Amino acid sequence: MPTLLLLPGDGIGPEVTAEVRRVAERLFPEMSLETRLFGGCCYDAHGTPMTDETLALAKASDAVLMGAVGGPQWADVPRGLRPEAGLLRLRAGMAVFANLRPALCFPALADASTLKREVVEGLDIMIVRELTGGVYFGEPRGVETLADGQRRGVDTQVYTTSEIERVSRVAFELARGRRNKVTSAEKSNVMETGQLWREVVTALHRREYPDVNLEHMLADNTAMQLVKNPRQFDVIVTDNLFGDILSDEAAQLTGSLGMLPSAAIGAPGLPGLYEPIHGSAPDIAGKGVANPLAAILSFAMALRWSLARPDLSDRLTSAVSAALADGARTPDLGGKLGTVAMADAVLAKL
Ligand code: NAD
Repeated sequence: MPTLLLLPGDGIGPEVTAEVRRVAERLFPEMSLETRLFGGCCYDAHGTPMTDETLALAKASDAVLMGAVGGPQWADVPRGLRPEAGLLRLRAGMAVFANLRPALCFPALADASTLKREVVEGLDIMIVRELTGGVYFGEPRGVETLADGQRRGVDTQVYTTSEIERVSRVAFELARGRRNKVTSAEKSNVMETGQLWREVVTALHRREYPDVNLEHMLADNTAMQLVKNPRQFDVIVTDNLFGDILSDEAAQLTGSLGMLPSAAIGAPGLPGLYEPIHGSAPDIAGKGVANPLAAILSFAMALRWSLARPDLSDRLTSAVSAALADGARTPDLGGKLGTVAMADAVLAKL
C-alpha cells in the first residue's frame, strides 16, 4: 500500500493540507496517510522543528507533502532550531537533489498574468534546478577583514561531474515524457563551472539521451527569453543559483503564489518531497481564505513522480482546471471562495 506523510506545518500550512487530505481520501482511498508536527509547531511541542522519528518516517514513506513552515512567533529561536532549519534538514536527510518547478498556465487564468494572454496561453514549462550543490554550499565561504581594514566576502561555485549528471538525467527523463526538449542554462562564456556544466550535459546527452532535443542557452539570455517567448521551452535544467532565479521568474508568468506547486526528488526509488512554493502566510492564517490549489497541485505531482499514479495526477489537474474554468476563485485570484469551498469546487469535478 503506498504511503504519504503529511507535514502540515505552520500558518496556512494546516489549512491547505487539510484540503489535500480530503482530495487524497476521495481520489486514492487505498493510500495510507500519516501526519506529523513539523516546523514551528513541532519546536513548541518538542524543542526541535523535526523529530528523528519524523525524518525516519519520511524516508520510509513513498512521498512527503509539506504545507509551509515559519512565522513571526519563531523569529527569536536559535538559527539551528528555526522552522526553516527543519526544512533544510528534511531535504538533506531525504537526499533530494533535483527541484522540479512547473510553470503551467491554466486557460482560465491567462489574463491573471502580467504578460499578454497570447504570450502565456498554453504555457507548460518544467524547470529542473540543482538543489544541493553550487554556490549556496561551496567552500570556502565567509566574510573576512583585510589588513587595510576593508572587508572581503567569498562564496564558491563548485560542481562535480556526478552532481551535474544526476540532475541532468532527471531533466532528460522528464523531457521524454513531455515534448522531448531540454534547454541547459549556464554561463559557460564566463564561468569555469559553466564550461564544465555544458561539457558534462553534452557528453551525457550523446551517451544516453541522443533522442532528446538538447539546446544550450546562456542563463542571462534564458531570463530574457522567459519573458519574451516562454512557450519555446519544455524542460529547463540549470544550477542552484540560476535555478533559484529562473524558477521564480517562470512562476510569476502564471499569476498567483497560491497556485504554484513544487517537487524535490532524489535517486530513483527514493521518496520525493512535495510542497507548495508559498510560505506560511501569517497575514491570512486562520482566516480560511488561503488558496489550497498550490498544495493540491503538489499532491498531483506526488501522484505522478512518487506514487506511480500518473492517471490520478492527470485527473486531479483536469479537475483543478475545470473548477477554474467554472469561475472558482479564492481572494488571491480575485474571487470570494474560502479554502474549503475552493477544494469543494475541485472535488465536485473529480
Ligand atoms: P508567503 O508566501 O507566506 O506570503 C507572501 C504573500 O502571499 C502574503 O501576502 C500571503 O498572504 C500570500 N499568499 C501566500 N500563499 C498564499 C495562498 N496559498 N493563498 C493566498 N495567498 C497566499 O511569504 P512571506 O510572507 O515572505 O513569509 C511568511 C513566512 O513563511 C516566513 O516565516 C517565511 O520564512 C516562511 N516561508 C516558508 C516557506 C516554506 O515553508 N517553504 C517558503 C517561503 C516562506
